[in-house]
Amino acid sequence: MDKSDKIFVAGYRGLVGSALVRGLEHGGFHNLPKRDRSQLDLADERAVQNFFAQEKPAIVIFAAAKVGGIKANNDYPVEFLLDNLRIQNNVIYAAHKAGVRKLLFMGSSCIYPKFAPQPIPETALLSGPLEPTNEAYAIAKIAGIKLCQAYAREYGATFISVMPTNLYGPNDNFDLETSHVLAALLRKAHDAKSRNARELVVWGSGTPRREFLHVDDLASACLFLLEKYDSPEIINVGCGEDISIRELAELICDVVGFDGELAWDATKPDGTPRKLLDITKLRALGWQPTIPLREGIAQTYEWFLKNVAR
Ligand code: GDP
Repeated sequence: MDKSDKIFVAGYRGLVGSALVRGLEHGGFHNLPKRDRSQLDLADERAVQNFFAQEKPAIVIFAAAKVGGIKANNDYPVEFLLDNLRIQNNVIYAAHKAGVRKLLFMGSSCIYPKFAPQPIPETALLSGPLEPTNEAYAIAKIAGIKLCQAYAREYGATFISVMPTNLYGPNDNFDLETSHVLAALLRKAHDAKSRNARELVVWGSGTPRREFLHVDDLASACLFLLEKYDSPEIINVGCGEDISIRELAELICDVVGFDGELAWDATKPDGTPRKLLDITKLRALGWQPTIPLREGIAQTYEWFLKNVAR
């Protein structure tokens, strides 16, 4: 990639998009047309086509999505399926029509079957039934992967698909109803400490295991893959280690400085028992994560204190 290449990051204000823009700007890329939702509604097919026809980006990173934690995914399957299909179809179609040189489609580790082998290799895609709590989102992402692969096969497009593990970092959603677990527990620990509360409620049993990657590591992997990877075959991005939700809760309480008890809300779902990605393929290309979990949580808590808790 050339530093002057025009790179459109769809969804640049979100957790992933904002990290990509930070990473690109840090790397000297400066030609980054930015559009938030009020300026360009990605669900509006005509608006998206007009944008691509006018701007003619060389490279597109598709990081726009309706996302949410286990409860939001479970409660709003229509929105998670339909909104994601709409925006990804519009962007992928318009990117091809406008002759974009390369597109990176952001998938998710939830595309893999509920009982996939652990760590999960890329070959596990479509090898078994999905986890019901996030099936709608997963189906939309699988459709996006397949559309990118279809453009590669039928038209020779360089549309690659990256599967990140569970992510966290600055600009995460800290709303307790719709957030993912790490942001939710940071907020809960902070609130419990501020109120001098004796306990903090964690959903489910605490036994599910998840892998957490700082979003700046994801951005670094994506920029690496934009330079080095052209295959339509999906590629996992993770840190290679997972922890239980109980261990995560304890770690977060420690970082935040809350020393009360954990209480478990068994009315909330556990979701998939384990989600650890096999990152052999990415490592073999020469990429490594750099942000240890504890350090990443501490940095995200700093960001939360400055930007959300104020
Ligand atoms: P998932 O990885 O798709 O299951 O999404 P989440 O990040 O929302 O949830 C991961 C795990 O954390 C699940 O087992 C949840 O039940 C558990 N969890 C524990 N406490 C919370 C919480 O306060 N919010 C969320 N979203 N999940 C929680």
